[in-house]
Amino acid sequence: MTTLLTNCHVIPCITEGEAIIHDAAVLIEGKRIKAVGKAADFGDSEGVQIRDLGGRYVMPGLMNMHVHLGLSLPGATQAAAAKETEMDLFARALKNAHDALHAGVTFVRCVGEKNGLDFALRRAFTSGLLQGPNIVCAGRAVIITGGHGWQGYGSIEADGADEWRKAARSQLKLGADLVKLMITGGIAGEHEAIRDAQATFDEMQAACEAAHNAGKHATAHAGSPKAIQDGINAGLDCIEHGYFLDDATVELMIKKGTWLCPTLCVSRAEQYMRNLGVPQYMINKSLRAGEDHAKAYQLGLNSGVKIAMGTDMLPGEPNEGTVATYREMEFMSELGMAPHQVLLSATRNPAQLNQLADQFGAVAAGYQADLIALTANPAENTRNIRSIDWVMKGGAVYRNLG
Ligand SMILES: [Zn+2]
Repeated sequence: MTTLLTNCHVIPCITEGEAIIHDAAVLIEGKRIKAVGKAADFGDSEGVQIRDLGGRYVMPGLMNMHVHLGLSLPGATQAAAAKETEMDLFARALKNAHDALHAGVTFVRCVGEKNGLDFALRRAFTSGLLQGPNIVCAGRAVIITGGHGWQGYGSIEADGADEWRKAARSQLKLGADLVKLMITGGIAGEHEAIRDAQATFDEMQAACEAAHNAGKHATAHAGSPKAIQDGINAGLDCIEHGYFLDDATVELMIKKGTWLCPTLCVSRAEQYMRNLGVPQYMINKSLRAGEDHAKAYQLGLNSGVKIAMGTDMLPGEPNEGTVATYREMEFMSELGMAPHQVLLSATRNPAQLNQLADQFGAVAAGYQADLIALTANPAENTRNIRSIDWVMKGGAVYRNLG
């Protein structure tokens, strides 16, 4: 089937400083974009289904790089999740995946799920059995005994280089696209500090090597500068959160080309956590980290570290009057990133991080037809991201102007 999107303005999301294509049209054939250009250049439209987008802005679907579709935080939601069967979990995660897609998140990177949930969802979405975003996934995260996320997240507790290698390989065996490590404490753990180094150099190196040997990337939940530096030298390709980045760490990240997925939401969403019944210790820890987290992000941003957007919260879940993914993009903007750069960090950059930059994250010929349309221009003001009301994934309209 061939579709022509007309009466729209295209934000290609290919290069910094690119021009918006006004009065544009996008030709879609099957699952892919066939051509993009000025509407006037598209001639005879016989046999083509025309979709008038009413003057909307069209850009690539959003790509959220830090997601747990089966997420449950300490407190009330974890207590409820503890009673779930695997089928209950699948149903809940599927609902979360649909909410994500409805919000225009057409691609997620799952960085720690239990019970093979992400692999099952990926199979169902890829085969077309169910609708949902594109998924790249890590399977279960690898942690030390009692390490970050030992309770309620299905992580693999392992100690020593051999066990870390084996744990990483066990997830690659199931089809993991990347390996997820937890190398420091975090906000959700009651008996740990965010700065605590948890993994040894040898453990991290063994797991990273297993990932790289399989042609995959390795990422880590990480807080303190020392642990992050060790992790990068051990082979990490991406740092999640990076709460306390300093000059030396940022310098190393630039030298090695290490990515940062800042997840700013997690240290500045008090009302969200209260609504969920999260315990007070976690709220205190989260908000106390907020200022350092913002400074770390700004240091990375101003130094030119490669940044990919991620929420560590359910992508389409209500959050401060909007949904988590939009709020995260707004935080990125409020803390200094230019609006167009925010769009790139949620499209082109994630595609690059996953080595899929020739297929995803751009409105250009040959790319996957994963597109969103907005009534207001998000390249002018990030808050306009809230005006998404049309979502296409793989050439099929998932949400239609409303
Ligand atoms: Zn996480």
